Amino acid sequence: MSPEFVRAITGELRRSGVKTVSLGGGEPLLNPHFIEIAERLVSSGFKIRVFTGGPRAPENLDFLAGSDPEKISIVLNVTAPGRGPAEARGSALAALSVLGKMASPAFTVSNPDDSLDFLLDDAEKCGAKKNIRLGIAQPAYSGRNRFLKPEFHRTAGDSIARFAALAAARGFKITLDCGFTRCMFDAAPPEGAEFFCTPALDVWNDGSVSYCLALAGAGREPLGGKGGLAGAQKRLLKKIHPFKRTGLFARCRECPHLETGVCGGGCISQIMRTFKRGVSRPGGGA
Ligand code: SF4
Repeated sequence: MSPEFVRAITGELRRSGVKTVSLGGGEPLLNPHFIEIAERLVSSGFKIRVFTGGPRAPENLDFLAGSDPEKISIVLNVTAPGRGPAEARGSALAALSVLGKMASPAFTVSNPDDSLDFLLDDAEKCGAKKNIRLGIAQPAYSGRNRFLKPEFHRTAGDSIARFAALAAARGFKITLDCGFTRCMFDAAPPEGAEFFCTPALDVWNDGSVSYCLALAGAGREPLGGKGGLAGAQKRLLKKIHPFKRTGLFARCRECPHLETGVCGGGCISQIMRTFKRGVSRPGGGA
């Protein structure tokens, strides 16, 4: 993404009432124009949220460490010890130490029995914000990625609930990303958790817009098309609307949480993939 592209879309974002712009990847901190882009967005009146894996990018990290937390927030993905390259984990922890309270550590659950306790130790050692963001690895519409299979949702929910209790006892807040469902949790879910889909539209370098990252392959609309960003959002919503009333599991059909809007029935990308593949929906009775 170039500063020129950001300049070109700023007016449309403002006209559409956008208040916060998220910068994701690839890896935003490896963009040679990162500081210029961030400063342009902030000086245009937007708050920005940066999603990063914490690469070695000293200049950009120092810039973020010295920025105004009212205007810039940072979500930093940390890998689990012993999973993936040690170098990536080392780099993420070094970045977390530089950013300190500017950054919330984050982790994406892709295995039902992922142990999450390391996140509390990492956050404390690095002086990070006591707010941990958890996501579920969602299937891209293409299905060509590793994701948490629906049949493992409840096992993952048990381990997340146990972790949330431990985190609360150590003074941490847990924030859940999209795609979690109410029935992942037998007992009370983590405080403040929400289970409906409120997507952040993704704007791509080619000027197109998708409903969210996971649904990038399910259709995009031009940002400069009829009605601008609001028009694109309306057309994208129309495409996915039928799947918002369906739910991922067979049991969703009779679930009061779907009816009352407490739960959106899981990730829309996963629901659409199930219908695309023509397979039965997983799960039976709630
Ligand atoms: S709507 Fe579906 S996914 Fe959500 S709680 Fe009910 S059964 Fe579970």
